[in-house]
Amino acid sequence: MPIATVNPANGETLRTFDALDEQEIERRLAAAHRAFRHHRTTDFAQRARLMNRAADLLDEDQDEIARTMTVEMGKPVKAARAEAAKCAKAMRWYAANAERLLADEHPDDTDVEDSGASRARVHYRPLGVILAVMPWNFPLWQVMRFAAPALMAGNTGLLKHASNVPQTALYIEDLFSRAGYPEGCFQTLLIGSGAVEAVLRDPRVAAATLTGSEPAGRAVASVAGDEVKKTVLELGGSDPYVVLPSADIEKAAATAVTARVQNNGQSCIAAKRFIVHTDVYDAFAERFTAGMRALTVGDPLEESTDVGPLSSEQGRADLEELVGDALGQGATALCGGGRPEGLDRGWFHEPTVLTGITPGMRIHREETFGPVATLYRVADLDEALEVANDTPFGLSSNVWTRDQGEMDRCVRDLDAGGVFFNGMTASHPALPFGGVKRSGYGRELAGHGIREFCNATTVWYG
Ligand code: NDP
Repeated sequence: MPIATVNPANGETLRTFDALDEQEIERRLAAAHRAFRHHRTTDFAQRARLMNRAADLLDEDQDEIARTMTVEMGKPVKAARAEAAKCAKAMRWYAANAERLLADEHPDDTDVEDSGASRARVHYRPLGVILAVMPWNFPLWQVMRFAAPALMAGNTGLLKHASNVPQTALYIEDLFSRAGYPEGCFQTLLIGSGAVEAVLRDPRVAAATLTGSEPAGRAVASVAGDEVKKTVLELGGSDPYVVLPSADIEKAAATAVTARVQNNGQSCIAAKRFIVHTDVYDAFAERFTAGMRALTVGDPLEESTDVGPLSSEQGRADLEELVGDALGQGATALCGGGRPEGLDRGWFHEPTVLTGITPGMRIHREETFGPVATLYRVADLDEALEVANDTPFGLSSNVWTRDQGEMDRCVRDLDAGGVFFNGMTASHPALPFGGVKRSGYGRELAGHGIREFCNATTVWYG
């Protein structure tokens, strides 16, 4: 895959970049390692000053970086601005909270005594240079939610970003540099995926985090496993959106539209499978389909656009294959199903709702990365949970009900890293984020996220 900015709204190649050669990769690895030796000795106040400065600069740059993201991967520009604002918020949150999250832990006095110590504590130290392999779908947020905790913990970062967002990748390196981070603290490596293995095997790299597809996750985790290096994986999702009879159907349907088409439908935590109790199925289906049909599809640089193009021609081809397979096997499109008229130059796909899904269809088990929803009718909560869990993924889940007993049951029985009631899944700096099953392992954000790349050191005093 060439490293290039290709505008998905019209297919135009705007800029291409050469991949770094071996010498330059070596120079950057050495700089990252050198920077770590210093950065690990700084205190939280120093790190917070730098992080807050970077957040301020990002706020100043918001319009410009939002436009860059939109031109590189097609998200509506209003969503791109919101993404930049969210990043600044997370950076400030980690600046304010890292010291508390990484404070020493003290075991109970009786346990300390039992261990034969006069005193003992757990002390969190940074791990070293962390390699981040990141995707294009939230090109700023996915990186920042790694970078903010990693840098606040005292680690340094090397970013291998997706090949279609090189300008956003270079912007992030420049942002940290302008904020005053010493050389090597955070660097972008413009390299193809084939060059990742050698970087990961380098002894100066301590660990890796990857957000992306399952094959990419498997490839990186295999190499890291071979090197006995820690990984955090945030892979795909096919989140269920369960609607039960006590739900506010109007609100559930309106939120369902946003939950499905956010980021042009290319979000790991987008609700993808809509599982609706038979008593409210018709009411929900009618409102949901009307909402999907009413969306404005078009140029993502226009403020009025709800749904832009898919990020790549391949991405649209993959989605069309899944939809074609389902329709070919008897599924029905309540709306959409193909390419919108009049938008031939870009990689657009109509907002689509499919019913009549059967387990033999690929769409039943595979992730739909685009504005395509599948709708299921179920008889009761038992069947809803069965359908919800009938997926290789387990990232998050959404349930609409006012019944506390049903909520408790869902928390107990849904195979997912999150259960969101009467709302849609969204990430927040203070709430851990991650999945189970094929959605990956480890957690980002909150205290869980910052401790993933720390050495929890047992300190024992005789
Ligand atoms: P990929 O998983 O291929 O790309 C994500 C990142 O991993 C990119 O930086 C990519 O680099 C890198 N990468 C890919 N393969 C390897 C490898 N073998 N070794 C090391 N690094 C690798 O995502 P795609 O863009 O191809 O999207 C395909 C599908 O993945 C989507 O349709 C969706 O289902 C899922 N996906 C999920 C995301 C999520 O948020 N969980 C995000 C993106 C995709 P490069 O760009 O150079 O190939």
